[in-house]
Amino acid sequence: MKLILNSAREKSLLRRHPWVFASAIQSVEGNPAPGATVDLYSAAGDFLARASYSPQSQIRARVWTFRDEPVDAEFFRAQIRAALDLRLATLNLQHTTDSYRLLHGESDGMAGFIVDRYHDTLVLQSLTAGSEYWKQTIADLLIEETGVQNIYERSDADVRALEGLQPAVGVLRGNPESVLSIAEHELNFQVNIAAGHKTGFYLDQRENRHWVGQLAKERDVLNCFCYTGGFSIHALANGAKSVLSVDSSGDALSLLDENIKLNHLPAECHTSIEGDVFQLLRKFRDENRSFDMIILDPPKFAPTAAHAEKASRAYKDINLLAFKLLRRGGILVTFSCSGGVDAALFQKIVASAALDASADASIIAHLSQGADHPVSLHFPEGAYLKGLVCVKG
Ligand code: SAH
Repeated sequence: MKLILNSAREKSLLRRHPWVFASAIQSVEGNPAPGATVDLYSAAGDFLARASYSPQSQIRARVWTFRDEPVDAEFFRAQIRAALDLRLATLNLQHTTDSYRLLHGESDGMAGFIVDRYHDTLVLQSLTAGSEYWKQTIADLLIEETGVQNIYERSDADVRALEGLQPAVGVLRGNPESVLSIAEHELNFQVNIAAGHKTGFYLDQRENRHWVGQLAKERDVLNCFCYTGGFSIHALANGAKSVLSVDSSGDALSLLDENIKLNHLPAECHTSIEGDVFQLLRKFRDENRSFDMIILDPPKFAPTAAHAEKASRAYKDINLLAFKLLRRGGILVTFSCSGGVDAALFQKIVASAALDASADASIIAHLSQGADHPVSLHFPEGAYLKGLVCVKG
């Protein structure tokens, strides 16, 4: 089965970008089922790539391979082996953690698949018609290649609706526990893979939590959007004077309390507040509260560039308030995980927040997602997490 592209629409594929939009397609030969493998041809009749077909999505096809090779179980086995090699043989992640992202979609040549390993369990998200088509094969291959017996499915992301897919959640293989304990840089975290956000934990922040934690010694820390306490636990373990953690999710804060106990950290140095960060920062400003370190790790405000303006206002708002609440010499650790706001725009927003707060500040580090969340050079959309660490003068 074939998709033939409109004339001149093969350009992005020749640059190895893996997506083909509906508007680029001239005709479909045969009657491919959702997710089935199709060959992509230029209008001039040249073979371009082999891809999965998604008839309901604006992204009508996603490339599996630019080579003329079979797309079958052995093809996917090789992709999974390469992904495992990166995490283990190259990055040696097994020395610092038992939990990492094993498959990161397009950047691992596995469009539509997110697979996170948490200790003895894999959590799989299938996001596209193509990943849905191969899901059972991939589940079997993951067990064969990793030796892990348990796979839980968390295919409940909203983007599935764009592919015409219903949510799918539950046990895919084995007998996974819904709450399990993972190790990260000598600390332990409880992760709820069934009810937590995404696949249960924000693995992309692992190295940032470790590094930022080390800056927290003897500081009064405010951790905004704390979830189950990733940054808070690392800060307490590194001797923070006090940590105040804020999140709107009571369930996340309950796990945070358990994580403090699990790591035998001084509970008397920690307070959590269930509430809205936007309101709370204003309240703290009105009360003249101040901190030596403020962490802002909000959810995605701008999924696409179309939301960038509204998102920019939200980022500016919280960063401006944070600069006001910081003492001199205080550290702001601020993130954006919005695909629609790139690193340059984010830095501009933070700079204008500092200006409006009448604060001088310098960047001491640029942060990004961990190396187990690689970014294909041909798929820059894969680089979503950016962070700045700023010291207030
Ligand atoms: N830093 C965390 C991950 C943060 S995810 C870690 O390392 O694990 C973003 C968090 O923001 C989620 O826990 C979500 O519940 C919370 N959140 C979203 N909107 C919020 C708001 N307006 N106020 C407070 N918390 C919010």
